[in-house]
Amino acid sequence: MEVMYQSTRSGEQKVTASQAILKGLADDGGLFVPDHIPALDVSLDEIAKMSYQETAYEVMKLFFTDFTEEELKNCINRAYDDKFDTKEIAPLVQKDEAYYLELFHGATIAFKDMALSILPHLLTTSAKKNKITNEIVILTATSGDTGKAALAGFADVEGTSIIVFYPKNGVSKIQERQMITQKGANTKVVGITGNFDDAQSGVKAMFNNKELAEAMNSKGYQFSSANSINVGRLVPQVVYYVYAYTRLLGRGEIAEGEAVNFVVPTGNFGNILAAFYAKNMGIPVGKLICASNDNKVLFDFFETGVYDKNREFILTTSPSMDILISSNLERLIYRIAGEDAKATADMMNELSTSGVYTITPEMKKQLQDFVGGWADEEKTAAEIKQVYENAGYVMDTHTAVASAVYRDYKKRTGDTVKTVIASTASPYKFATSVMTAINDKYEGMDDFALIDELSKVSGVSIPKAVEEIRSAPVLHDTVCETADMQKTVEKILGL
Ligand SMILES: *Cc1c(COP(=O)(O)O)cnc(C)c1O
Repeated sequence: MEVMYQSTRSGEQKVTASQAILKGLADDGGLFVPDHIPALDVSLDEIAKMSYQETAYEVMKLFFTDFTEEELKNCINRAYDDKFDTKEIAPLVQKDEAYYLELFHGATIAFKDMALSILPHLLTTSAKKNKITNEIVILTATSGDTGKAALAGFADVEGTSIIVFYPKNGVSKIQERQMITQKGANTKVVGITGNFDDAQSGVKAMFNNKELAEAMNSKGYQFSSANSINVGRLVPQVVYYVYAYTRLLGRGEIAEGEAVNFVVPTGNFGNILAAFYAKNMGIPVGKLICASNDNKVLFDFFETGVYDKNREFILTTSPSMDILISSNLERLIYRIAGEDAKATADMMNELSTSGVYTITPEMKKQLQDFVGGWADEEKTAAEIKQVYENAGYVMDTHTAVASAVYRDYKKRTGDTVKTVIASTASPYKFATSVMTAINDKYEGMDDFALIDELSKVSGVSIPKAVEEIRSAPVLHDTVCETADMQKTVEKILGL
């Protein structure tokens, strides 16, 4: 049965999957949602025997129904190849009473690779299907991580180019080196003199500039975004939850029909929403545990039914979760509002005007699948140390937030259901925070020196992605004033 996509803010317009991927955001500012969540049509026992790529096909074919089998398999095979450092793509390892689903074996050693390695192929295939001949120009502002994952995903993908703006003095040394050493004839990385907000505003202004769009079109270009609200990023994330469950089944760790919990370190709510979709496709799930750091807007929301972003923004050692507006939550709101687009639009409107909205008691009742939890900086560091000492396993700060939240949850509830923790970054990506959590003698040492120490204590060899940036030549050195971002784009594209 065909799955069509509609906006969370007005029910009328329905588009195909490929159109939703191309558009990213709906015209009314809403997010595209599937008109129903399809059920898996092969048994979990069968999936248990499949590879990651085969599992990906079984999940994605049900959501992207206007793609042919050949198109979809092509996208999957180009995405999940030897860019990943393990054939399993997303290994599931058991350590210290939980299972860690390692989503960091791709090009940039963080979970964004799971979706950003396939999005470029979904986009170019969608363009072809919709008879778009323009080259797609991806424009991104980044505070560090997403920019690199997008660059790696789009590098040398035919029919696309990518321009990434980052705050020249606002990213870590490792993050900057990762970006400015990026290979690929179609990649451009530009530092700006302003901060991340300036970069983001500049990119938004270009997206909304009609004259620029016309000038681009006449030269055979059009903009698109690799934003995390694109369904082309959300659906590929459903795959690894189906994969994790069926690995447990295949290994005989769980019986048929036995539920598992998933714990997800959450920022924009994309990753955990994918777990919710997996449950709706037929995966037996107990609780979906939403883990936050000090920026615990979501924890408060699950407790009270009030979403309130009016609070201090706290910088933590898990920066990818330092978020006060979790954009993908809108898709869950729409769902628990009974797919009421008007009600959803009203709440999102309140969020943008006053920064607060409250869901109804009926809506709150439908959140029973979810449990919120949070861990502060001290707890997070203690978790890294404890799991290292108990199990010799070194985890990154984001994963540690989830792991600490699970420890608390288990103690509080006595829930013994087998539990999978989404492990969203390699510890190598956050070497300083990780190593100082293990032992304060590492304080003050530089990131690159700590990488060698991390390799020694963890026994895990240094990932290619880290090794490469130490020696790779700098290929991008453009810096511009914030006010000149558009001029820079025009120059790059020869407008
Ligand atoms: C993006 C990110 C998250 C948060 O994921 P969401 O889908 O935004 O909730 C968690 N950990 C890491 C390492 C990330 O890069």
